[in-house]
Amino acid sequence: MNDVVVIGGGIVGAGIARDAAHRGLRATLVDKGDLGSGTSSKSSKLVHGGLRYLERGELRLVFEGTNERSLQMRRAPHLVRPIPFLVPIFKRQKPALAYVDIGLWIYDALAMFRSPKLHRTYRGAQVHTLEPALRTDGLAGALEYYDCLTDDARLVLENAIDARALGAEIRTYTRATAVVVDRRGRVAAVRTRDTLTGREDEIATRTVVVAAGPWTDELLAELAVPFGRKLLRPTKGVHVVFDHARLPVTRAVTLMLPDRRVIFCIPWVERTVVGTTDTDYDGSPDGVVADAADVRYLCDAVSRYFLTEKLTPDDVIATWAGLRPLVASDAATASDVSREHEVFVRPEGIIVIAGGKLTTYRRMAKEATDRVVDWLGDRGDAALEGRHIKPCRTKNRSLPGAQGMEIHGHRGVEAVADKLVHSAGLPARVAQHLAQTYGQRADSVVVRGVADAHLLEPMDADLPYLWAEVDHAVEVDLARTLDDVLSRRVPLVLRARDQGLGVAARAAERLGARLGWDEAERPRQIERYRQTVAASRAFRNG
Ligand code: FAD
Repeated sequence: MNDVVVIGGGIVGAGIARDAAHRGLRATLVDKGDLGSGTSSKSSKLVHGGLRYLERGELRLVFEGTNERSLQMRRAPHLVRPIPFLVPIFKRQKPALAYVDIGLWIYDALAMFRSPKLHRTYRGAQVHTLEPALRTDGLAGALEYYDCLTDDARLVLENAIDARALGAEIRTYTRATAVVVDRRGRVAAVRTRDTLTGREDEIATRTVVVAAGPWTDELLAELAVPFGRKLLRPTKGVHVVFDHARLPVTRAVTLMLPDRRVIFCIPWVERTVVGTTDTDYDGSPDGVVADAADVRYLCDAVSRYFLTEKLTPDDVIATWAGLRPLVASDAATASDVSREHEVFVRPEGIIVIAGGKLTTYRRMAKEATDRVVDWLGDRGDAALEGRHIKPCRTKNRSLPGAQGMEIHGHRGVEAVADKLVHSAGLPARVAQHLAQTYGQRADSVVVRGVADAHLLEPMDADLPYLWAEVDHAVEVDLARTLDDVLSRRVPLVLRARDQGLGVAARAAERLGARLGWDEAERPRQIERYRQTVAASRAFRNG
């Protein structure tokens, strides 16, 4: 019998499964798709305090965010890496340079001056040297501060892998369809359906945590768990990917737009990512895509600030779109809705967690797991069968890629990359990619090249991804479909010029051999991946 079934394998659900298993609870995590296939692979991929929340006076949120940022830099240095951000400020712009400077002092202070580096101010000509592509006419100056860049889907994956290592069961492509309640009105089981095979099942459990992100209201309705109101006000956010040469930034550039929105231009080695939009959305969370208006808005907004030729939708290599699962409020505009989270506990033993950010997932997981423990504790030893449940200790436990290199932090990641260059003879760019993706687990990818040297060849000439990563994705990293691999484990869908279509057939062949796909399954997998690519290009249809 499980103590808890977590519904939703995004960052919040994976964090809860890991925390629960680490405390000694029996936990199962189910997701109707792949791990991280919801909002948690559609974020701006920043682990940050949220400079923008300062403007709204949400100091607690910034404090929480900056503190979780420093913790994650220690516990997952391969996945959470500091990068400089530059905020250009123009002469007649509000807030003015001095005001943003004060804001950044508060930001540094809330981080207890443990930011990767304290912020700095630059004047006109200096800004040109830092970011030559940025327009400097009318510029009052620019402020540089530090936040962190991550791989959101991998952050989810490493939480799930660790949860499994700690004893939790992870079931992907498993949709929760009902909660079974016993005669006393308490949770007894969760009914599920395998979304790949259609097989129905029932998982016995004492509690359920709903961590379904933007699907929360839809799921609660399906599970017949009434709240009498909608818990969420989801807002849609879109990102677009350009070739780095079209938008050559060396730091993340933070643009404060005249409509009070903030967008980031983030360097991703060979690409530059621009995002995000923030608009109310009331459709189904399945099938949310970037439309032509979203893409035009981002192209137009960014083009005003750079000297490069005007960016147009024709320059866009890829897009992604996601829904922020924000807690419903009376905020006037989508951008004003708070990023705070809330936990709701129902008498049956159903705990619902809504809102929040990728950055604060560990704290969210702690709160939800605390409620599970409280609920079980209130039912006495009968529920816990005399087991001693430990308090939350995720502050002290590294994610799998960082286990064993705690004292070295980011230097440990560099050491992994150096070793891959010197002992495995890999090009520096590939070694850095592997170290920053897998941390100390990188060896288990590279060792595959011993049996077959072709596995250490790149999948795409522009990018550092290796064929060995495809095998690793399915044998170690819990991938079950071609889409899992090309969208989230080796995300060619976001980075490759052809979005991975050119290698889809060969990748499907490798996966099929490992997963036992028959002749009919391979084309089905390729077709499904084509649909993912088509969704990313839907804006081209007008
Ligand atoms: P999700 O990741 O959506 O997970 C919910 C899961 O539930 C899904 O995988 C879904 O498949 C599953 N599910 C739904 N129904 C069922 C069912 N019936 N059975 C089983 N499974 C089910 N935060 C930051 O900190 N930094 C950022 O830079 C940042 N940028 C963002 C940019 C955008 C555009 C957006 C949209 C969000 C951003 N966020 C950011 C917020 C952050 O991404 C989200 O708060 C977070 O990813 C939500 O995670 P989640 O686990 O709650 O939801």
